[in-house]
Amino acid sequence: MEMLTTLAMLAAAFTLTMSLAACGASVDASDAADEGDRLEVSDEEVRHPETQKGPSLAENMLANRSGENRRYLQQVLEAADRQLAARGLAFASVLSAYEPVAVSSADDLRAQLDITEDYRDSFVHGEKGAEYQKYIVLHDTEGEGSAAGVVAYWDGNGAGVAAHFIINKDGTIVQCVPLDKITHHAGFGDTGHNELYGVQDESRDDKMGTVPIGDWAADYGMNSYSIGIEMVHVGGSGDYPEAQLEALDGLIAYIDAYYGFESAIIDHKAWRTGNSDTSPEFAGYLSNYQDHRTHN
Ligand SMILES: [Zn+2]
Repeated sequence: MEMLTTLAMLAAAFTLTMSLAACGASVDASDAADEGDRLEVSDEEVRHPETQKGPSLAENMLANRSGENRRYLQQVLEAADRQLAARGLAFASVLSAYEPVAVSSADDLRAQLDITEDYRDSFVHGEKGAEYQKYIVLHDTEGEGSAAGVVAYWDGNGAGVAAHFIINKDGTIVQCVPLDKITHHAGFGDTGHNELYGVQDESRDDKMGTVPIGDWAADYGMNSYSIGIEMVHVGGSGDYPEAQLEALDGLIAYIDAYYGFESAIIDHKAWRTGNSDTSPEFAGYLSNYQDHRTHN
């Protein structure tokens, strides 16, 4: 965390370490009078105005320090400041001295990736909008064909199915749908999953080309709240190349920075039971992504 480094440099009186856990942010004033004293900033105390989520988001906010995110991060720091002040410790001087440092913006992170844009109108099924973004859904293409070939296939078959990104085995990426457009990558999910995943509003999706697959899978909301990423891979064919996984790491970092928060990461079969992708060999990576957003 680069902010930590900055704060540590600025704070001559004590060293600050900030750990951001799922349940909230905490700050150690480890060299202060009370050794190891921890400050807890609760979700109840500070919530992001857009996402209504708590301080666990603060680390990600560092990648996108503008507008609401910047003000939100400020609130988290101010809450820590109030708690320190109550114990007779000073944090305000650090806070006021704090200036944004050069961290990777979404544009910087995108520029580090080898992305070719190949947008197709037939893949767009409505406006998703940043306020509806909740999930990153991972898929296998279940074929060895290149990303460019997959885009051509999708566009030619008339089903209106696509994903936002396809990652080749060599780490090159094709983007065929803009981030804030709905595309049909997740399809129908188990009946009840709209509610389970909090994706009830299907009204922004034109549902062109959809063919119901049965009463057991009637829910279609995931498409309206997610980014779909396909990896060129056939389940059971062996491990994913390192270059492909590193590209996925970078792509997720870019998407996180673009939205200013961490979307939940799931694979397609979580949405629809029995779906083949992603493959069993991806299970360990999926768990790593869900835990810390990189494959290893
Ligand atoms: Zn899939």
